[in-house]
Amino acid sequence: MPSSIFQKSNPAADITLLPKLGMSKKEFIADFKHYYSHRLGRDENCRSPHYAYEALSMAISDRLVERWKNTYNACRIQNCKTAFYLSMEFLMGRSLSNAMLNLGVNDIVSEALYELGLDIEELIDAEPDAGLGNGGLGRLAACFIDSCATLQLPVTGYGLRYEYGMFCQNIENGEQVERPDHWLRNGNVWEIERPEYTHRVKFGGHTESHIDELGRKRSTWVNTQDVLAVPYDTPIPGYQNGTVNTLRLWKATATEEFNLQEFNAGDYAESVAEKNTAENITMVLYPNDANENGKALRLQQQYLLASASLQDVIANWVGRHGNDFTHFADKNCFQLNDTHPSIAVAELMRLLVDIHGLDWDEAWRITRKTMAYTNHTLLPEALERWSVNLMQSLLPRLMEIIFDINAHFLAEVSAHWPGDFDRMRRMSIIEEGHEKQVRMAYLAIVGSFSVNGVAELHSKLLQEGLFKDFYDFWPEKFNNKTNGVTPRRWLAACNPELAELITDTIGDGWVTNLSELEKLKPYADDAKFRQKWYELQQASKQRLIDFNKEEHGAELNVESLFDVQVKRIHEYKRQILNVLHVIHLYERIKRGDTANWTNRCVLIGGKAAPGYVMAKKTIKFINNVADVINHDPDVGDKLKLVFLPNYRVSAMEKICPGADLSEQISTAGKEASGTGNMKFMMNGALTIGTLDGANIEIREEVGDENFFLFGLTEEEVEEMRQDYNPQAIIDEDADLQGVMRLLECGHFNQFEPGIFDDIIASIMSPHDPWMTIADFRSYIDAQRSVEEAYRDKERWTRMSIINTASSGKFSTDRTISDYNENIWKLTPVKVDF
Ligand SMILES: *Cc1c(COP(=O)(O)O)cnc(C)c1O
Repeated sequence: MPSSIFQKSNPAADITLLPKLGMSKKEFIADFKHYYSHRLGRDENCRSPHYAYEALSMAISDRLVERWKNTYNACRIQNCKTAFYLSMEFLMGRSLSNAMLNLGVNDIVSEALYELGLDIEELIDAEPDAGLGNGGLGRLAACFIDSCATLQLPVTGYGLRYEYGMFCQNIENGEQVERPDHWLRNGNVWEIERPEYTHRVKFGGHTESHIDELGRKRSTWVNTQDVLAVPYDTPIPGYQNGTVNTLRLWKATATEEFNLQEFNAGDYAESVAEKNTAENITMVLYPNDANENGKALRLQQQYLLASASLQDVIANWVGRHGNDFTHFADKNCFQLNDTHPSIAVAELMRLLVDIHGLDWDEAWRITRKTMAYTNHTLLPEALERWSVNLMQSLLPRLMEIIFDINAHFLAEVSAHWPGDFDRMRRMSIIEEGHEKQVRMAYLAIVGSFSVNGVAELHSKLLQEGLFKDFYDFWPEKFNNKTNGVTPRRWLAACNPELAELITDTIGDGWVTNLSELEKLKPYADDAKFRQKWYELQQASKQRLIDFNKEEHGAELNVESLFDVQVKRIHEYKRQILNVLHVIHLYERIKRGDTANWTNRCVLIGGKAAPGYVMAKKTIKFINNVADVINHDPDVGDKLKLVFLPNYRVSAMEKICPGADLSEQISTAGKEASGTGNMKFMMNGALTIGTLDGANIEIREEVGDENFFLFGLTEEEVEEMRQDYNPQAIIDEDADLQGVMRLLECGHFNQFEPGIFDDIIASIMSPHDPWMTIADFRSYIDAQRSVEEAYRDKERWTRMSIINTASSGKFSTDRTISDYNENIWKLTPVKVDF
């Protein structure tokens, strides 16, 4: 590195010294005009809102960058402990409206744009979503870093900068068609490339052992094909507190000396084309939610994230402390978002032992004091395992280290339970068998000091089931951290009218202390307040109707009950159960059983993993049933079924304020937490749900009388599984027979014979893991109580207010405070601004 680009004669000069940027309307207008006209080269003839969006974002970004440097310097001066959130996914959505809210410039900027003849909403909608995640897990990471910044905790997010994010979903002939999401096509004003912090990541090659100068056996990893990881930083602003933290995303690029042989042999073009294999690593997000998939490229992604991030942290450490790692674990903590980055356990060992020369035991002590692991699933098929063969060929040194970690670990197990070979086989990080596999969750547990689940029930089931042996061994490692969502994005920004009513009523403390929403409870009995609440809810429903119309058109009636299920399409989430209820309502209409009817619009949205056949068939099923119902003149406004295409963060920001009823109907014991349920509750929707994930805690907070509970408990599900007989249940239930009759006669697939046979077979199977038929009756009955409650407008509105008022626990500010108190132990850093 050059020591300095500056003249030695003038060391006092500071080229970064600038006056503080102004926050007045005049200054925003001036900056906007400057960027629009000079930087982007546009004028009044430009019709696309994109450039106006960019110009405004540049003006906003400048203000963030100013605070970003302050935050960075404040942390550096205080030499504070830092946590690093390692995640393969950050489902950020849009940045502009969030940045304006957190800077506190919403009103001033709206006025400035109004003066310029521009519509702020149109600019906000011109921003593409940063869709660098699949669903709940990726969105959680985004909410977490928002709360860390708001709580002024020194936390950096580390992830991957996928060139293509989550695919865009089109519906053609009722089926999902995927289109690539080239979200960076028009550039990204929110990121700053920092090539000076590039790291080299090794792949392939082999290891060689030798004896070092201290007589210790050492390994070197040689003959590797290297890739460079280049960081792109995005500012993460806290809520009106001067703090701006960092999300650092890695892009893979070729090393400068790539494929020198071919180059020298004259194959210039071949050699340059090779660059692609390096850049492929961060080309695309894998679109599988809660499903492992075993592809080599995915393992390369995981290792690139782990290695580049750890090298980054260690380079920073060595820059300040040299090779002295004595206090490394006191100052650094890595939170692993699921097993995806858990190769970090072995990589930290490699860096400490191979690169920095520590003894194995010392390195292991440090690793076990810095790593913490969050589990996100109870589905065994989602637990990641990598074939030993693949890991040996792609990451030979890491495989060696994992074998060594396992040998040390099994010796511990053996000392604790002498002669218990069955237990050792069960707990081994290496699964023996036809093809040996590395169990990544076990590597994460063995290498971490903390293992947490994401809701009370989930954490309990981990200890009793999936990780029981490990809980018996290390009960002190296990803990729960119930998920949350950020109330800035998911109430203040997405539902500004409701937020204003709340602030006018109880003050604005709720934005950073969500339990203050409790103060709304007395207003549930105030008829005038209820009327205002009801009117705002109806206005949100109208906006949702308009949004839906813009996106694909379908006439919805704002007076109907808006019944919404949006989330990834997965069998365990049971979208099919929802459709069975819709078919039942349709069948009642056709029978003329419509006394005391409640009009209902059922909205379902979500993406299916492109390789998940049943999930894609479910989308087709929803669309076919919708087609029949929506075109039947007997049905009219009584019932509508709509599939909302291309569900994503920015869509949810319009959907959750407009929902009356939130569908959280997974098979008990299968949904780890859910966070969609929390967004709906915060915005005043009532939940119909099973005793699963965080639904249980939602019901505890809001009270049984304000929650529509149905279905078997997790224990009852496991009990009934022994002799589950769906046919016997159907034989006892006339409503269910009516539904099955329509399905079996092909009423919803009259010109497509047999296409839903596999759906019918799956719910009719005694081995149906999701037990859909078992919960049908109690679901239908619960929906009846929903209708009764909705017909009493005053009662419903009261329940809606109580739901929002009781949602305080589900702020990620609370979740992150829990992580910090029990796991990270960071000190907040005040920043002057
Ligand atoms: C909140 C959210 C999710 C998670 O929804 P669940 O109902 O908890 O599965 C998934 N995708 C998006 C876009 C979200 O905003």
